[in-house]
This record gives sequence, C-alpha cells and structure tokens, in this order.
Amino acid sequence: MHRDVIEKPRTWAVVPNVLEYERARSEFSWAAARAALDGLPGGHGLNIAHEAVDRHAGGRLRDRVALRFLAAAGARTELSYRQLAAETARFANALRALGVGRGDRVFALLGRVPELYVAALGTLKNGSVFCPLFSAFGPEPVRARLELGGARVLVTTEELYRRKVAGIRGALSSLEHVLLAGDAAPAEIPGARALAPLLAGAAPRFEIPPTDPEDLALLHFTSGTTGRPKGAMHVHEAVVAHHATGRIALDLHDDDVFWCTADPGWVTGTSYGIVAPLACGVTSVVDEAEFDADRWYRILEEERVSVWYTAPTAVRMLMKAGAELARGRDLSRLRFVASVGEPLNPEGVVWGLDALGLPVHDNWWQTETGGIMIANLAAMAVRPGSMGRPLPGITAAVVARGPDGRVVEVAEPGVEGELALAPGWPSMFRGYLGDEARYRACFAEGWYLTGDLVRRDADGYFWFVGRKDDVIKSAGHLIGPFEVESALLEHPAVAEAAAIGKPDPVALEFVKAFVSLKPGYAPSEALRLELIGFGRSRLGRAVAPKELDFLPALPRTRSGKIMRRLLKARELGLPEGDTSTLEGGA
Ligand code: AMP
Repeated sequence: MHRDVIEKPRTWAVVPNVLEYERARSEFSWAAARAALDGLPGGHGLNIAHEAVDRHAGGRLRDRVALRFLAAAGARTELSYRQLAAETARFANALRALGVGRGDRVFALLGRVPELYVAALGTLKNGSVFCPLFSAFGPEPVRARLELGGARVLVTTEELYRRKVAGIRGALSSLEHVLLAGDAAPAEIPGARALAPLLAGAAPRFEIPPTDPEDLALLHFTSGTTGRPKGAMHVHEAVVAHHATGRIALDLHDDDVFWCTADPGWVTGTSYGIVAPLACGVTSVVDEAEFDADRWYRILEEERVSVWYTAPTAVRMLMKAGAELARGRDLSRLRFVASVGEPLNPEGVVWGLDALGLPVHDNWWQTETGGIMIANLAAMAVRPGSMGRPLPGITAAVVARGPDGRVVEVAEPGVEGELALAPGWPSMFRGYLGDEARYRACFAEGWYLTGDLVRRDADGYFWFVGRKDDVIKSAGHLIGPFEVESALLEHPAVAEAAAIGKPDPVALEFVKAFVSLKPGYAPSEALRLELIGFGRSRLGRAVAPKELDFLPALPRTRSGKIMRRLLKARELGLPEGDTSTLEGGA
C-alpha cells in the first residue's frame, strides 16, 4: 500500500495542542514558552528539576504518578510527583554531603531503573551536571567519556562496575565517588558507597540553589567521523524547549500516559524519557527490558499508553514480528505515535495505521539540538517518508556552498543540500566540552550546520537524504568510526582499521570493519573471530563491528585519510565515485 499523504480527521476526541501550523508559527515566541514555566521561587533562575518535579509536587499533580517503572522481571514501581521530589531531594542532599557541587560532573552507567531517574534529577537539583552513559557500552567508550567529561561521581551497579569500569579505573583520575545501586559497597572498590542507605540517611527536602539558566546541566556524548566523542553541553534553559516541544511535537496533554522507548544513555531518552514528560506533568512509563514485540504491545495495552515515542528500528522490528500480534490488544487509548533517530520508511508510517490504527509521525533532531526541531504534528497531514516541518520557533533551511565557498540558502524546492538551523532556541547546545574549534566549525553565515543532507518540498516538508559524514547509524545510535577503529588498533595483529556502516533491513546499518595486519600475522578465520570478540569486549555490543574483513592495505587519500566511502562503495558494489585523491592514483 502506498500513500502520499495521510490526512487527519476534522473532529478530534482530544484536540491537538497545535491545530493550525501556520498560525502556531506566527504566534509562537520563546519568551511565551519560557513564561509557561515557573522559574525558581524568589526569582532565583531556572532549574530543569524544579520545572520537571518540584513545581508539580506542591500543586494539584502532587499525587499523580510521575514515573512508572516496569522491571525486566515484572515488578512495577511507581513514584508520584511528591515522592519523586523527595527521592531526588535525598539524592541532591547526598551529593552535597559528599562535597559535590555546582558544575561537578555526575555520570550514570545504569539500565532503565529508578536510580537512574532519581540520580538525573537529583544531580540537576544540586546544580551539578548529569552525564548519562549507555549501559551497553563496553569499557572503551565508557573510559573515553568519563575521562573527557572529568567525572567526579559515577552512579552504577556493582555488576556494571566490575564489567566495565574496574579495568579502566586507573585512567580515571578525577573519579572520587562510586555510588552503587543497592545496599552493598565492597571495600575494594575505591570511593564506593551503597546508594540505598545513603539516600535513606539523607533528608527528603532540598532547596534548589539559585540556578542561572545558562548553567551547564546535561552533557551528552555524540560521535563524529574523526577524533574523540564530542561532549555536547546543554544548559538549564533547555527545559523551555523540552516542555514546549513535548506539547507541540508530542502533543502531550495533562492526563496522558507517555512512553518513550529510548534509553537515557542517548539524548532522546533524557530529553523525552525524563525531562519533557515530567515538565508537562504527565505519567511516564519506563520499561527496563530490551525489545520484545509481545511485551511492547502488552505495555501499550495494560499501561493504557496514550502517547508513544519510539524509533524506526523498533517499528521495523514490530513490522517483522507481524501486525497479528497487535490484534486482540485493546490499544484504544493510544492517540499519538511518533518516532525519531533515523529515517522512517513510508511502509513504517503506514504499518502504524494497520497495526495501531494510527500513522507513525516521524520527527527529526540530534544531540546538538537538544530537542525536536522538525516534525509531523498531530493535526498535520503526514507525508510518509518525510520528517515533517520545522516546529514553531524553529527556522530551518537547505543550504549549500556557493562558488566562493560561502554557505548560501537554497530557496527552490526539491534541491538537495545540508540541513541548517537558525541558532537561538533554548535547547541548542552551548559547545563541545573542551573543543571550541569543533563547535565553531558547526556554524557558517549565521546558520548552524547539522551535517545531514535533506530536500525540502514546495510545501515546506523536509525529506532526509543522508549524512554528510561517515558516522554510522545502528539501531538509532550514532557510532563514530574512529572510536571503533581506535579500539581495533589496540589488538597486536592490527596495522590499520576502518569502520563503515553496512545496510541492515532492521537496524538501518551495522558496523563492518576492515583491517590490515602487521607483518608476521596472516588472515585466518580464527583471527577474524578473535578480532570480532576483541572489538566486542572493548566496545560493547552497541558499538562493536559485527562483520570484519581483512585487506592487504586500506585505501587512503594522499593526505593519509582512510577512504571509508570507497570501502563502502566496494562493499556494496556501488560506483566508486571520485577516487582522484586516492593514494597511488585511482
Ligand atoms: P543523535 O545525535 O545520536 O540523536 O543522532 C542524530 C542524527 O540522527 C541526525 O543528525 C540524523 O542523521 C539522524 N536522524 C535523527 N532523526 C532522524 C529522522 N527523523 N530521519 C532521518 N534521520 C534522522
């Protein structure tokens, strides 16, 4: 079934927050969006945790469930806004008692368990900076991020610590405190404390200190083609965008039950898995378990989810499992479904109609933008395959380099170019930690350049074309080839390594590596398996290569850069493109 446009009804059971796109754009202002929030009592600034938790805890929402945790093993734990305020106050008090203060970096390496959410919001209350790490990272990505971020505190479990941190602890000179979820803290882990007694002994009230809206709040690591991971810095002011986009792009209404399937180790899981739904005062469902089609339909039904935010990989996995699984489920509560992180094929949008009775609304953003920028809104006709239109408050354009090298806007529709945004929205990143040059390189002629190639049609809908760079998107996660290559290079047999994304029908791409070997080593099946195992133990399953091939040498440009694009073209049997800069000639 192919549909160019999916029209929306003229009457609504729940009227969307944005009914008329053009009008909303002309009436919107960030100042008004800011005024919809409280600010700290006494005019003491703006703090994400106050807007997300404390302002509801004292009002009519105090007993509403803020977070409902579904443990992998089946237990269900709920925290009302009042309870969440108390728990996060305890966490903030515990940090304060440890001497951890404003601007200090508190990292979390945890699954989707209550401690993660309490740590995130408690850290923000304390004016410290929260940095979530994906628990499926291996020791190398964990080390790189803890080191770059100057972690002072790490909140984790004993098991994750032993598997991912113990072996790299020597490299982490700034790490003082390791807070372990649960009741025990083995003496041999330096700086370890058990979190449960620590919180039990801390007071459930905490007055958030004055917070400048420009104070650093969140640090999210993302990947580029070259070099180390980039720490995108976000400030407390971001909550203005989290709240506004939660209402506009996810259409959150007061009594919604919202489920964001993303892990807080990635920006979606923090902006929309923690901050936005709480700032909007809704009930948020958190599932600890990994994907399971039947479980997911059960959650949608039993938790009476009304707004669902997921990812194309998940949609494709559900499509693979078959729409029959959804039959017989009462999904009548579901009102709005959105997805983000990678291109959503038109079939995925239409599958939503069949399986859920609703189209999937694609939207676009990235770690640097901190919040949704382009979206198919609830009241807007959906164009399957398009990411939608820029949100009110957001100016997006297609740009290209002119003959003089300057960035210019491409006005005519249908022309491919780079997606650019006019800076100035509140959740815009404020820099890459310790890397001013890389940050500055993202801007030209007053535009923020996103690194994505797009087209815009005559009606202002944006269509994703691809990435400008060589970063790999696997299961919605951005993977830097350099990080993969660096880990493989640590193996004694490896002379050179390159990583590319190879198309996958479900995960969009998976990581494939190419290596050349040092003298004295010969390609063999045993060595191939050893290197794949080595990559996995260093990088973790989310990042490690799934395939690996040997080459006598890797193609490089004359200036010495590995030509990943050429490797990819050869791997996929595509035209090799311009190889004039290839070392040794084309
Ligand atoms: P991350 O910073 O990890 O969230 O990844 C951001 C990148 O994911 C973007 O720059 C895009 O390349 C890709 N992306 C996000 N949303 C979409 C979408 N709706 N369609 C296509 N690509 C997307």
